[in-house]
Amino acid sequence: MDSIRNQFPILATTVNKNPLIYLDNAASTQKPLVVVDSISEYYRNYNSNIHRGAHYLANIATEKYENVRTQLASFIGGQSHEIIFTSGTTQSVNLLMQSWGRKFLTSADEIVLSEMEHHANLVPWIALQDEIGFKINYIPMMTSGQLDISSLDQIITLKTKLVSIAYISNALGTIHPVAQIIAQSKLCSALVHLDCAQAIQHISIDVRALGIDFLSFSSHKIYGPMGVGVFWGKEDLLKEMNPYLYGGEMIKEVFLDKVTFNELPYKFEAGTPNVADVLGLGAAVKYIEDIGLQNIKQIEDELHSYLMLEIEKVDKIIIYTPKENSTAVVSFNIEGAHPYDIGQLLDAKGIAIRTGHHCCQPLMRKLGLEGTCRASLSFYNTKEEIDSFIAALKSIVKLV
Ligand code: PMP
Repeated sequence: MDSIRNQFPILATTVNKNPLIYLDNAASTQKPLVVVDSISEYYRNYNSNIHRGAHYLANIATEKYENVRTQLASFIGGQSHEIIFTSGTTQSVNLLMQSWGRKFLTSADEIVLSEMEHHANLVPWIALQDEIGFKINYIPMMTSGQLDISSLDQIITLKTKLVSIAYISNALGTIHPVAQIIAQSKLCSALVHLDCAQAIQHISIDVRALGIDFLSFSSHKIYGPMGVGVFWGKEDLLKEMNPYLYGGEMIKEVFLDKVTFNELPYKFEAGTPNVADVLGLGAAVKYIEDIGLQNIKQIEDELHSYLMLEIEKVDKIIIYTPKENSTAVVSFNIEGAHPYDIGQLLDAKGIAIRTGHHCCQPLMRKLGLEGTCRASLSFYNTKEEIDSFIAALKSIVKLV
């Protein structure tokens, strides 16, 4: 554990004279030194614009950037040219909405989302629905914090063109029954997009084994830098989709009156990409693979069970995260206290959690809440940190 924590110097800082206890990993993970070093190494040694370069630095930067694409393809079980670098999950969903949705959805169609989605996988679709007039059906959420899939065959039907859902809920940590949802989608020949923003750092993902068509995730949630992410799509689908951004790099030939587009994946990567952070993401994925996602999951599951067990013992606690099929997150409130106040009181003790609606207003409305407190774990957290968090909560409860 020491060797893991030493990779994350920020974990040794103090906040309000207390050792930092970082329990906001679902919002963003901390970065290991190998990631910070890879970014610094790029700017120190081979900073250059990539592709078309006729010089040493451009060639080496291009090679490293393209190597990360290949590395990520093997990480998720896709092909290199199916990996599109974006700025993160939000941009990936917008790409899908603009490039696929705008081209293929008509007013006669239906798409399926869930009531538990992050706004990033809701707002783009609602905005497009306003323009095109297709119908959005929602997989309902139960007050237990799980999706109700008992009527899946009435929600995902032959009219459904796309099912777009998160693998794991950011607000509650619920692991959704994606296998059943994908199976019903395939029965109806509907495409499936999986928002893996909260899954890619916890669960090993194989797009072919899952049988999905599109996938999105953000680098900063998997120990990589901010400002970069991935959109993956099946080759035949990507080929049929329109470009998302237009400009340099994404073209084959430009005339004053017509344009032909570049091949995959470049058709979707207009302009100068975020080379340094793509390299940082590559370093993060290598770091994760060296430790092993199975090992990471085991540590996180143990920490999560311990946290769920201990937090239940706190007076006046209300827990929203389901005991079964959940990971890394506990979402809760203290009777009679505003989540923001709990967050502030914990911060005074050096403990970082997140409070609010977690970009899931429909989910909160369903629970009749304005917001919750959310503590979220990473494998670099410890039982001792959980003990300190629980002790802090118990002392706060006495004040409210
Ligand atoms: N979907 C889910 C499930 C998320 O947790 C997040 C980030 N909280 C997003 C989408 C959006 O990710 P980003 O802000 O990195 O674009």
